[in-house]
Amino acid sequence: MSHKVFSAVARGAHKFVEQAEAAWKGAVEKHGEDKVVEFPQTAFYLPMIYALTGRKVEKLADIGPVLEHCRRDLLHPVPEQNTWLPYLGHGLDEGAATMFAQEILCALDCVNGYELPEGYYGFLTDTSQRELGIQLVDGRMPGFAALLGPAPDNETAVKVIRELQKRSILIFLCANRDGRTMKQQLDEEDIQTGWETYIVPTGPETRYGTMVLNWAVRSALTFGGKKPGQFAEILEYSRDRVHAWGMTFGESPDDWYATGAGAILMGYPIISDSETTPEVRPTGVCVYEALVRETDYEQLVPTCVEVRGVKVKVEEIDIPVPFAAALEGERVRKEDLQVEFGGKKAHGMEFLRMVEMDEIDDGDIELVGEDIDGVEPGTAMDLGVEVLVAGRQMQVDFEGILERQIHRYVNHAGGVMHMGQRNLVWLRISKGTYEAGFRLKHIGTILHAKLHDEYGQLADKVTVRIITEPAELQRLRERAAVAYGERDVKLAGMKDEDVDIFYSCALCQSYAPNHVCIVSPERLGLCGAYDWLDCKASHQISPSGSNQPVQKGRTIDAAKGEWEGVNKFVYDYTNRTVARYCQYSLMDSPMTSCGCFECIVAIVPEANGVLVVNREYLGMTPIGMAFSTLAGSVGGGIQTPGFLGVGRRYLLSEKFISYEGGLARMVWMPKEFKEEMREDLQKRAEAMGIPDLVDKIADETVAEDSAALLEFLTKVQHPALTMPPLF
Ligand code: SF4
Ligand code: ZN
Repeated sequence: MSHKVFSAVARGAHKFVEQAEAAWKGAVEKHGEDKVVEFPQTAFYLPMIYALTGRKVEKLADIGPVLEHCRRDLLHPVPEQNTWLPYLGHGLDEGAATMFAQEILCALDCVNGYELPEGYYGFLTDTSQRELGIQLVDGRMPGFAALLGPAPDNETAVKVIRELQKRSILIFLCANRDGRTMKQQLDEEDIQTGWETYIVPTGPETRYGTMVLNWAVRSALTFGGKKPGQFAEILEYSRDRVHAWGMTFGESPDDWYATGAGAILMGYPIISDSETTPEVRPTGVCVYEALVRETDYEQLVPTCVEVRGVKVKVEEIDIPVPFAAALEGERVRKEDLQVEFGGKKAHGMEFLRMVEMDEIDDGDIELVGEDIDGVEPGTAMDLGVEVLVAGRQMQVDFEGILERQIHRYVNHAGGVMHMGQRNLVWLRISKGTYEAGFRLKHIGTILHAKLHDEYGQLADKVTVRIITEPAELQRLRERAAVAYGERDVKLAGMKDEDVDIFYSCALCQSYAPNHVCIVSPERLGLCGAYDWLDCKASHQISPSGSNQPVQKGRTIDAAKGEWEGVNKFVYDYTNRTVARYCQYSLMDSPMTSCGCFECIVAIVPEANGVLVVNREYLGMTPIGMAFSTLAGSVGGGIQTPGFLGVGRRYLLSEKFISYEGGLARMVWMPKEFKEEMREDLQKRAEAMGIPDLVDKIADETVAEDSAALLEFLTKVQHPALTMPPLF
């Protein structure tokens, strides 16, 4: 059986290596050996080659030895018709050779200025992975699938995509058959592709399949703390923690088989819809089977999920349009707009509050005012959504947390777009969704179902009032304004000293097994998504879950933020790799990072200060490293004094590296980021008694290297220059 598979793999691998050799020679002739070879925005060179062999490919000359390694060690002769065995090991070697050769070919595409057709992403950046980090680890996104080739027809393409989306599975598209791609099929069916909709086309050629694999392999380096060259550990990590698989449509050509062998080497099974594909069912390399056939399209996606051993939850909510987390980023464009609320032309708000158990009946959904029946396309209306929650374990403190989920829940409905929160909500409903019968009360249906589903421990009863009637809306606005204000004051006023218990967050351990966030009232998790109250609520909801109470215990050093209880907890929860955590220090035993930090704080020794760079900023920093390079050395659950992954809002905390002097140390940040934060930074600076600090913080417009930075800091007399030495 496997003879057919492994001869195809061998032929495919030989072809890719030959192509890479020819392309490389051509490139050397044209550009010379010193020509730089790189993918955009990555700290990992050619990531697959770097991860599995430890080799840094930086210029054309570095490619030669990799190709030689493929030729000498990884390629084997194509099996003769009459030989058996030992195919599997050879096939896996050839899978590696294929991935390296494809990666080289794609990198040479960059060198040669090859432009992918519109809508294809090509290389996937480090940032795209960090941004998805939390969703991948907390199970919201249970895995991802790479689809090769077009489906037999558009209808099947849409069906498969919808089935994957329903399960919140991230989808990559690559390869073509006779020039036809699945992206074309989706385009024709008006299905939006892109990161926003979790359908990411990498390239129309087979070699761009490797872009998915070299994206996946980076998680072992960023989150898993594995070192380049530790190929066995990296492959094991990838098999056990990265829930991916491939799907091929129609009969597979040799180059798909070879690509599939690469995927199987990484532990990702392949599921084929073709009668002619032989199965490879020994387990070991993958968690379950390696190559599986499923010709029934009804069963295709369920089979994938089963073969990969992924746990998924399919959401069935009684509304007339699809409902899935994967639809969260979908936009409703102006041309598709039936009706909108809030935004520029109208008012939109939402407010969730706690009530007593006997005040409401669960499941009541009330519409006060007009519905949207018969509205002209493009209409703007006012809207208020009031959610009442009662529960024995519910607390007023949790109102804000539950209210913040409205955004996510409503967005999951197909053709519904939601932005903003509180009294700045903007909601759009598309024509298609309106025509399918979606009406305002369905917003209530969604909120009722999802709050029970995810927050059932807190919400015994949920009712929703949808309000379009002006006087009633006005009453709601006034009531909500008071509550928003109270919430803000309460949170802002909460100090670490006021509590005996911090919370841990170990969500990222599924990716970064030695990392734990210690979340205190004045320091939120480094992903920016969980503050102390969130963790408290989440602990209430699942007492044995990822958020555990951490008793501070005896104080060892109040200024550094070191406690006996925290140290003990951290030691136990980092697999005994980290013995001390100083909550408020950058230089002494700082908190570790997983990889999904919003920003990185890094020491600038010459300036006796620190800089901060957010992950959206692609440019250079004065310490000669861009975000992606910095991130490469900060993640993976390792303590790196002088470097810290943090959530944005931590910059505004009184406890922001307070042991080293706090915000006064800040000497540089990207301009756009500074402007976004300006108002809050200004408040904090004033509270610290340095009201002119914000303008003394340099940005890329005044300094991109350390000489220019120092010159600027000296000119403005930045306080960091006269503070005690950082080390
Ligand atoms: Fe991961 Fe920390 Fe965020 Fe939890 S708080 S999801 S551990 S980054
Ligand atoms: Zn993380």
